Amino acid sequence: MSNIVAIVGRPNVGKSTLFNRLLERREAIVDSTAGVTRDRHYGKSDWNGVDFTVIDTGGYDVGTDDIFEEEIRKQVQLAVEEATSIIFMMNVEEGLTDTDYEIYSLLRRSNKPIYIVINKVDSAKEELPATEFYQLGIDKYYTLSSATGSGTGEILDDIVKDF
Ligand code: GDP
Ligand code: MG
Repeated sequence: MSNIVAIVGRPNVGKSTLFNRLLERREAIVDSTAGVTRDRHYGKSDWNGVDFTVIDTGGYDVGTDDIFEEEIRKQVQLAVEEATSIIFMMNVEEGLTDTDYEIYSLLRRSNKPIYIVINKVDSAKEELPATEFYQLGIDKYYTLSSATGSGTGEILDDIVKDF
């Protein structure tokens, strides 16, 4: 019955930075069991008194491109199975990539709510470049600076409405 929010996206977009920000003041759940959860981190957070679990996916072992793609596919699939809501993170610094398209095509097959987040929008001057993400064929995205926390509230307000 618990609410689980998974953060997915390719490496370096800022997933762990957001995860750590959401866990501020809260204890991370240390999950050292081998297997499918090895490369994922779980933590507890809350917004306006609503508790939820956050999953930080990643820790990808970027060996060859094939392993990389396979690893992302696995992480996305696990996130879709496990989460009640999904944050799909990209970033304005590197822009829209082929891997982003691939991840999004996997995610949209699920019937879980997907929140599209463009990270590293640290100031108003990154808002215009962020519009390139409409090319994914989406109606809405959230801009965020995980580094400063700006934008976090707008996303969480909407996510907790699903619970
Ligand atoms: P992950 O691989 O998706 O987990 O990404 P990380 O959270 O490890 O962040 C990758 C890099 O991006 C780090 O150097 C972060 O400090 C940086 N970063 C994360 N969020 C932001 C942000 O909102 N703005 C800026 N400018 N850098 C960020
Ligand atoms: Mg990370």
